[in-house]
Amino acid sequence: MIVGDLKPLAEIVSAIKEYKQVLVLGCGSCVTVCLSGGEREAEQLRHELSQIRHYEDTPPKFVVDSILRQCEEDLVTDYHTIPEGTDAILSLACGAGVQTLGDAFDPLPVISALNTTFLGASAKPGIWAEMCRGCGDCVLNFTGGICPVARCAKGLFNGPCGGSHNGSCEVGLDTPCAWAMIYFRLKRQNKLHLLEEIRAPKDWRPGGAGGPRKRVRIGLGDGTK
Ligand code: SF4
Ligand code: SF4
Repeated sequence: MIVGDLKPLAEIVSAIKEYKQVLVLGCGSCVTVCLSGGEREAEQLRHELSQIRHYEDTPPKFVVDSILRQCEEDLVTDYHTIPEGTDAILSLACGAGVQTLGDAFDPLPVISALNTTFLGASAKPGIWAEMCRGCGDCVLNFTGGICPVARCAKGLFNGPCGGSHNGSCEVGLDTPCAWAMIYFRLKRQNKLHLLEEIRAPKDWRPGGAGGPRKRVRIGLGDGTK
């Protein structure tokens, strides 16, 4: 899922203070699961932003609502309840949701309340860990299902660097070395031979280097255009 963090309050206040009525809009998908942008967080943010101490003049009026998935154009365009008098939307969705809203309600300003951080998974209750950077040419089948792009601090492809020590990465003892994990996972799977196979250099073009990516569904395994 996509993980995001609430922006600093001062940054949000600075972006909304010129408006008279702001719709604080939560998103009911990934950011609800990672407890940063769902309906409950939208209500908490409304409460905090309503405090007069944040403003030199009159604070905006706030209304709270939520859309199931702000990144889905159909769900966004089906949303017809923008309250009368709203002159800006404060979105708690990821960057994709914010932009989908912006296109759907253009020219109404859509302000982002979150910093979208990574594609991750819940490691433990309340902790999310980065797992994938959407590189478009996945190597998990050769690396024991552990991503070297997102989980190795240097994004290495040919084994560990000299900073790998007792299974930890040189960036910190609490950060596992991805290449140590890859090695031991492949060893447990009797697949260490995968590390000795010569592969063509990774194709980074599907990773966004070729411009904005778009997926057109044609059939099974149709890929990205
Ligand atoms: S190799 Fe690429 S697509 Fe696969 S998990 Fe890593 S970043 Fe994601
Ligand atoms: S110690 Fe391991 S995870 Fe850290 S940068 Fe080196 S190879 Fe990558």
